[in-house]
This record gives sequence, structure tokens and C-alpha cells, in this order.
Amino acid sequence: MKRCLLCHNQLNDIVSFEKIFSFSKYIRPTICRKCAATFLDLKTVATCRICGRRLLTNMGSPCHDCLKWHNRAQLEFVNSSLYEYNDAMKNYMKRYKFLGDYRLRSVFTRQIQDELKATHRLIVPIPVSQSTMQTRGFNQVLGLISNLKVDNVLAVKQEQKDYRQSEKNRIERLQLIQPFKLIPSLAKTVVGRDVLLVDDVYTTGATIRHAARLLYQAKAASVKGLTLAR
Ligand SMILES: [Zn+2]
Ligand SMILES: [Zn+2]
Repeated sequence: MKRCLLCHNQLNDIVSFEKIFSFSKYIRPTICRKCAATFLDLKTVATCRICGRRLLTNMGSPCHDCLKWHNRAQLEFVNSSLYEYNDAMKNYMKRYKFLGDYRLRSVFTRQIQDELKATHRLIVPIPVSQSTMQTRGFNQVLGLISNLKVDNVLAVKQEQKDYRQSEKNRIERLQLIQPFKLIPSLAKTVVGRDVLLVDDVYTTGATIRHAARLLYQAKAASVKGLTLAR
């Protein structure tokens, strides 16, 4: 009997005939219904049309953060996200990324695949730095989309140091610096193409917008974003 990857209770997955005989590959759930219900599907609520965040009372669309972005950076960029970055998602990210439990990459495989299987866009994951790769041992974004064909055209520039969250002003200054570069031999892949940038979490939007700007400079036709959480 398989167990839920999050709470370790037994999984009672009843596979219907429809699923058995369907043409597309059926991906079994890896978490139980109780755990699944702790995540908030952003498709079920009103969201900002630019960054994809859940709109709370008194929030307009575009939200105040997106209006700021619009004034600061003229960039054609729209993001959508699958789930709200609520306590359950924060806890999931902690276990997956910071405690490095690579098995947890499969928790959202089905949802991400459903979202991406029909896209005509070039799927470009946000890369991680070499130091993250050394400490974590994997790129969490690649883990989430490991069953899909992706184009790894981006890399993190050498020696981007990881600063502590408490150094807030420093973080803000660093957000102005382009952290990514295009891999020269792959840069032509994006010319004239519609690109979908994939990341795990959209926080301030700075990271994914840096990547989007770089892709536009490389002559991508359009760039959109998709993140697991917002
Ligand atoms: Zn569970
Ligand atoms: Zn927004």
C-alpha cells in the first residue's frame, strides 16, 4: 500500500476504468485528499491578471505590486500560478527545497503536466546557482517538471552570493542586478519563439522578470511565466 508523501497515511487511490483506458498517461496522486485540500487552487478564486496572485478584499486587478512594476519596468510579462503560497505550500517548499526531500518533486506532477501538456511555448526553467546545486543537490524547478521536455537556455551568472533574508536593503539592491545569463550555444533557440518561464515560487517577481527581460533581449517573440506558487 502506498503512503501519502506528506502525512504518510495510506493512500486509497481508486483507479477508474476511464483512467485505465484513457490514452494519456494517468499519473497517480502521491498525496492524500486531506493533504491535497490544504493547498489553495488559484483557478478557484479571483486573481491578478498580471501576476496571478489571489485577490483579497480591496485589491484591484492589476494589483498594487503589478502597478509598481508597470511604472518601473516596461516589460510585456504576465504570470500565472497554480497554488497560493499559503502555510501548506510554505511547509511543502521547506521540506522539498530547504530540507532537500527530492521525493516531494512528484506531489504536483499531475497538475503541472495538465497545465503544460497543451502549450506550444518553449518551456524554460529558472536555473539555480552552482552553490545551491552543491548544497541542495538538485534544481527544484527541474524536479517539478522532470517529465516534460524543457529548454535549459538560462544559467546563473558566476558567484551570485546567497544573502540572508534579514539584509533587506541589500536584497532590494541586489534585485536590480541581472542574475542570469543565456547559454551562448543555446541563445538562438529562443529567437522568434513564445517562451514560458517556469519557477517554483513567485515572490517579488524580480527573479522571473530578470529572466523574461533576458529572453526578450535574445529576441523571443513573447514571454510568459508559470509558477507553482504565488
Ligand atoms: Zn496526506
Ligand atoms: Zn499582480
